[in-house]
Amino acid sequence: MKLRVVLVGPPGAGKGTQAQFLSAQFDIVQISTGDIFRANVGNGTKLGLEAKKYMDVGDLVPDSVTIAMVNDRLAEDDVRHGFLLDGFPRNVEQAAALDGLLEELGSGLDAVLEMQVDNDEIVRRLAGRRTCHGCGQIWHVDYDPTKVEGVCDTCGGELYQREDDQPATIRRRLEVYDEQTSPLVSYYAERGLLVALSATGDVEGVTARAIEALKRATG
Ligand code: ADP
Ligand code: AMP
Repeated sequence: MKLRVVLVGPPGAGKGTQAQFLSAQFDIVQISTGDIFRANVGNGTKLGLEAKKYMDVGDLVPDSVTIAMVNDRLAEDDVRHGFLLDGFPRNVEQAAALDGLLEELGSGLDAVLEMQVDNDEIVRRLAGRRTCHGCGQIWHVDYDPTKVEGVCDTCGGELYQREDDQPATIRRRLEVYDEQTSPLVSYYAERGLLVALSATGDVEGVTARAIEALKRATG
């Protein structure tokens, strides 16, 4: 099934975790703007140097930079079979730009999955998040620990804690979500695309409910 889906939700809601399972389930590419920015930061590109200034303090990277990057990514061949956007759009301007880009490609969105989690749980999830340097898999020190601390079970790579998962930056990112990103919920509800999903409970349960909800919304 060719599916074009957006995941919306606060930082730590589990977008990246679920995107890995959902993209495999529906055989579509995962496009994470956060991952693309982090790869550019890691490689020291001009885009990475520009993005880092904003990421380090928990602010959004300017729309001009982000939208141009997504425009390039959506022009690639693999997107024709469907995609799952994780972390984009993050404000109404980006959502409107996405509508324009998809119109040019001749295909609109099928669904927007809103992942709902309360703030206390978000802070617990972000504070314990660890990511693999090697394969990018997401772990959690309590909820999803590796067998050997600091080492990825899947590829043996070293785990790291994201710099923006520090308490002050987490607070700022939650503010940014409330002020700039949460208006997307009504933006997409008005367009009949919104599918609300409780993202609390274990990862497998959330995945099962997400698959069910997406099949119902697009079936
Ligand atoms: P996001 O991409 O929305 O910022 P992540 O997918 O990176 O969120 O998840 C944040 C943290 O929460 C990670 O450490 C992940 O292992 C953990 N996590 C994700 N989903 C769940 C869940 N359903 N229950 C417990 N922990 C979870
Ligand atoms: P994420 O990996 O989705 O948590 O994103 C990490 C950081 O990357 C964010 O706090 C922003 O600084 C930046 N970022 C990711 N996606 C976007 C976006 N769509 N617009 C602006 N900034 C973004």
